[in-house]
Amino acid sequence: MTQAREDKPRSIDEFILGEHMLMLAFIALCVFGTFVAYLYYGRTLIMSVTQTSPERPFAASEQIDDGLAATVLQRHRNSAGPTRIGIVAGHLNFDSGAVCADGLQEVTINTNVATQVAAILQANGLSVEILNEDDGRLTQDYRATAVVSLHADSCQGAAATMSGYKSAASRVPNGDLLQNCINERYMVQTGLSYNENTITDHMTQYYVFDRLSPTVPALILEMGFMGGDRELLTSRTQLVAAAVADGIMCYVERVQ
Ligand SMILES: [Zn+2]
Repeated sequence: MTQAREDKPRSIDEFILGEHMLMLAFIALCVFGTFVAYLYYGRTLIMSVTQTSPERPFAASEQIDDGLAATVLQRHRNSAGPTRIGIVAGHLNFDSGAVCADGLQEVTINTNVATQVAAILQANGLSVEILNEDDGRLTQDYRATAVVSLHADSCQGAAATMSGYKSAASRVPNGDLLQNCINERYMVQTGLSYNENTITDHMTQYYVFDRLSPTVPALILEMGFMGGDRELLTSRTQLVAAAVADGIMCYVERVQ
């Protein structure tokens, strides 16, 4: 009968495996869970402090890592760092620029000179990057000691016989210094005169000026006319590149 069986004392095994089995299983699970959590989080915290492992297994570790990374990044941005110059080869990978009747393209001259300027500056120990026209790297985050964009004026119509160079600089600290250095050295070394009357709004409001941080002075240089200065821009590009590079070195030496 059911009643008789309930009155009979149960063995210890029956006790353990009976009513309290669920409770014991729960306690065992808690102990096991605590042990696993200890191993898991303890190991993660050690990793966070030592930064020796690429594994990032939980959210708190992400926060710690990101904090450290932000600190390192901030320190990098505030440091002087190596001297770095961005050279925009005018119209490169964008369009041809001015084109003469015989097919001579401005972009060819600009790229030729930019490549030589970069080589000279690199030989002087500077870090140099050649940039395209409308280059995606030119943003507020672009870090450089200066950005110089190289162009040449037209050869069509009145420009066919015109001569001279000119520049425009961004209105930021050291912008004037950059412009003075390049204007002065370029004039002395190329023998060209400064053609102030043909400076356009496209130069004074050059779009690159707005893209860059105020900590990065920029300048656009019209190196001469493909009309009146054609021989200089096509046959004496070494001289032109040396003059531009010398102007940049003048600036670098003054700001260091
Ligand atoms: Zn141009």
